[in-house]
Amino acid sequence: MKKHNFSAGPCILPQEVLLKASEAVQDFNGMGLSLIEISHRSKEFVEVMEKARALALELLDLKDKGYVALFLQGGASMEFIRVAYNLLETKAGYLNTGTWSNNAIKEAKLFGEVVEVASSKNEGYNHIPKMFGVPNDLDYLHITSNNTIYGTQMKTFPKVNIPLVCDMSSDIFSRKIDFSQFDLIYAGAQKNMGPAGTELVVVKEDILGKVSRKIPSILDYKVQIEKESMYNTPAVFPIYTTMLTLQWLKDLGGVSVIEELNNKKAQLLYSEIDLNPMFNGYAKKEDRSTMNATFTLADEKLKDTFDAMWKEAGVSGISGHRSIGGYRASMYNALSLDSVGVLVDVMSEMERKG
Ligand SMILES: *Cc1c(COP(=O)(O)O)cnc(C)c1O
Repeated sequence: MKKHNFSAGPCILPQEVLLKASEAVQDFNGMGLSLIEISHRSKEFVEVMEKARALALELLDLKDKGYVALFLQGGASMEFIRVAYNLLETKAGYLNTGTWSNNAIKEAKLFGEVVEVASSKNEGYNHIPKMFGVPNDLDYLHITSNNTIYGTQMKTFPKVNIPLVCDMSSDIFSRKIDFSQFDLIYAGAQKNMGPAGTELVVVKEDILGKVSRKIPSILDYKVQIEKESMYNTPAVFPIYTTMLTLQWLKDLGGVSVIEELNNKKAQLLYSEIDLNPMFNGYAKKEDRSTMNATFTLADEKLKDTFDAMWKEAGVSGISGHRSIGGYRASMYNALSLDSVGVLVDVMSEMERKG
């Protein structure tokens, strides 16, 4: 039986995507060859790459607005480095909302001065700082839209006159926002798009080419754009699978349709967390993520009982990140409302048993 997969990443993908991807590994489009044994320069794969890039821009409503979509390698963590390499001349601002922002800051410091415009570190990253100033002399401001580990999500974004860079790894394509307020968006595929092995970068071309340092080709966004995301051999299987997921999302009706479902799932789980005295939410209510819900047991002694119950119900992947413990239920796009219902039933069963 297929489990109810609440894994934070790599995460659940639509069943039909898994099926099509596995078929392509056997025989890609009736070519008599596997997707993973053909040239990435073949007409067949170039079509896949172009379709994936086009779908990404289309779903974000960024077509014909000066943006380019790339599928690169190294994960979101590589983009911590590429962003600074390509954009940081002297000084950049970073909003510190969790472990991933913190890692991005650490890498950026290798390239120039980093101004931490605000941080929620002292409160265990349980909220998003809201009141902070952003100096005008920064090369860019970097934010993290969804904090996968702590379960917080930005609902509004700072209005700035400098390029705005956003790590959207764990909530890209999950909700409708005006994506044109960002100049660069990046996201590791394995949270809401596909298997690990590639990351999406969507960049407004006119912010590039402004730093004085020399940039190695593979790290240079301009080179990657010129080579149409094929400077070297791309991650063919992750990109193909991501393309299938984006096509699945488009066929469903796009980001605004999935947002409605994501809101329903989050509402169902958070209302259980709030009404059930056996559980406490971790993130401050106004900043709660629709993707990753973090919570703890009011009585830690019941851990073994609860763990046995959700496992018995076919739930998988809700143990919290090793850095904060507790529980984290990730509800990415492909997770059904029914799966959330199963988890909520287990939680209310806990309450009935006392
Ligand atoms: C998972 C995650 C990362 C790191 O992604 P990798 O692809 O493993 O490098 C970065 N940022 C956020 C918000 C994440 O959730």
